[in-house]
Amino acid sequence: MNKVRASAPQLAGLVPYDPKYLPAEAFLSANENPRDVDADVRNRIAREIKKVAFNRYPDPLANDLRDMIAEANGLEREQVLMGNGGDELLFDLALAWGGPGRTFLNLPPTFSVYAANARLTGTTVIDIPRLPDFSIDEEAVLARVAQGDVDFVIVASPNNPTGLMARPEFLERLLAATDALVMVDEAYFEFSRQTVRPHLAAHKNLVILRTFSKAFSLAGVRMGYILGAPEVIREFIKVRQPYSVDAVSQAIARVVYANRAKFEPGIDAIISERGRMLEELRKVPGMEVFPSESNWVLFRMERASEAWEFLYAGGVLVRDFSRAPRLEGCLRVTIGTPEQNDMFLARLKEFVMRKEGV
Ligand code: PMP
Repeated sequence: MNKVRASAPQLAGLVPYDPKYLPAEAFLSANENPRDVDADVRNRIAREIKKVAFNRYPDPLANDLRDMIAEANGLEREQVLMGNGGDELLFDLALAWGGPGRTFLNLPPTFSVYAANARLTGTTVIDIPRLPDFSIDEEAVLARVAQGDVDFVIVASPNNPTGLMARPEFLERLLAATDALVMVDEAYFEFSRQTVRPHLAAHKNLVILRTFSKAFSLAGVRMGYILGAPEVIREFIKVRQPYSVDAVSQAIARVVYANRAKFEPGIDAIISERGRMLEELRKVPGMEVFPSESNWVLFRMERASEAWEFLYAGGVLVRDFSRAPRLEGCLRVTIGTPEQNDMFLARLKEFVMRKEGV
């Protein structure tokens, strides 16, 4: 037969996630760590990979990693689960807490994967948009969950792509106000140096998402994890693919986690460059610069998509959100090395000066 019947109806109109990768000299579009894993850690990784039995299935739950992460966080193994990047765990969340007849509360603008997963799984999405300064409409969220029909909520903190943390007082109130599962996405928490982890003990409905992709320079390896109550973790285990976290990635992540102190200077450098970028961007005429506690800065300007083109033509790739709902006119620049950041700043200033006819 030379025809195929339609795929599931919820796929109609869904656009696959597109990270908008393009080759560039300064790659400042994907919130990656500009520094790769150092040579010493890479050598240790190479030694560990040599020991991996490629003909055997990996430990399905990556228990060695669970133990390491549990210990570092003062938790038990049963409170930790590894995933093929945070992305897999986000999908598992929609499978386990979403589905037809179930409801997800979203706080846009935020990471677009949350709503996409909800749609894929036939979950109803309720949006409580952020306020114009991108802070959470806290009272609206609390009032909405009080209706009792929300099954899960995701609060990215810091929020991608806007940059600010959720207020701890709000998260506490939210956790106390509902039995909905509340995922706090801490993919970037190493750059804000704040976590809601202490609340795990008192709130079974809290689950925290973390990743090795940012602070630990492992975006290419795919390793994320969640922290939560054992009964929550058990539900994620029911829906996950048994071998999603492969043996090579497990070996790499074990070495990186054991050596995580070595990544601290790189994190410090990003935080300090973030301060400089915020300051420099604020000096550029016509910029609305949003505060950031993460490894990027979001800014709004006139003719943003033209600026994006101009930056790209000069070898600098940033993320263009200028046509995304609620982010009109916004570009997001990931904090790179000082040299990459200088390249970005110089090129952006050049664009603005040309525009002004200076
Ligand atoms: N959460 C947020 C807010 C993100 O920005 C990302 C990465 N883009 C992720 C989760 C998932 O990251 P990863 O799959 O690389 O762990």
